[in-house]
Amino acid sequence: MTSGGEYVIITPHFQPIIMRVFIFLGAPGAGKGTTAAKIADATGAWHVSTGAMLRDLVREGSPAGVAAKEHIDKGELVPDHILAGMIGELFEAADADAAFILDGFPRTIAQAEALEALAAAHGAEIVRTINIEVPEDILLKRLGGRRTCPVCGASFHIESLPPKQPDVCDICGSGLVLRDDDKPETVRNRLRVYAEKTAPLVGWYERTGKLVRVDGSGSAEEATRNVAAAME
Ligand code: AMP
Repeated sequence: MTSGGEYVIITPHFQPIIMRVFIFLGAPGAGKGTTAAKIADATGAWHVSTGAMLRDLVREGSPAGVAAKEHIDKGELVPDHILAGMIGELFEAADADAAFILDGFPRTIAQAEALEALAAAHGAEIVRTINIEVPEDILLKRLGGRRTCPVCGASFHIESLPPKQPDVCDICGSGLVLRDDDKPETVRNRLRVYAEKTAPLVGWYERTGKLVRVDGSGSAEEATRNVAAAME
């Protein structure tokens, strides 16, 4: 208290409250989802998987879900406006100090531009874009062995991350499946679409000075350590 009776509030570091956004880039199978889930668990950040959100819409059978399914099953991208709408709703719903890990968004330059506009409108900062790099032969092995829980969305791998009981989800006990879009023909198309539409984002973000490249070719634990270090 001062001699005049009023209180003096001392704030040594003024830290504005803002939403913070981390983007995980990388080909299908690079480990965006696995590393994002682990880091979100440890930090309280929101893990935003647009693939999982779209699969929920498909399960619900909503009109947007019916429209999305056609694209997903062929390994094609869902139209940009559906994605921009989903991310816009998320910003609306989030607390002012939320941290997001975007896993699978943006996937096109148009989506990256939509994200810039949404971030500006909500006072959010895109803190860093982390490109998880994995050679193609490893991607193909990972996607073929991936098993996914159709109920809670958890992801396993028959060799590198096996569930405790074969084909049973460790988290909710449901039977695991090979996602339709992890089947070999669709995987090849997803990698083609990635090279054509999403890989150009690496250069796009490099120009903003916010891109960090990370080696994701090792175990899930190694990749998570590398990605977490790149977020600091
Ligand atoms: P993922 O689980 O991230 O591999 O996504 C599965 C599928 O959902 C993709 O192959 C696309 O068909 C669709 N998808 C997910 N995120 C996006 C996005 N940002 N833009 C367009 N389509 C997407």
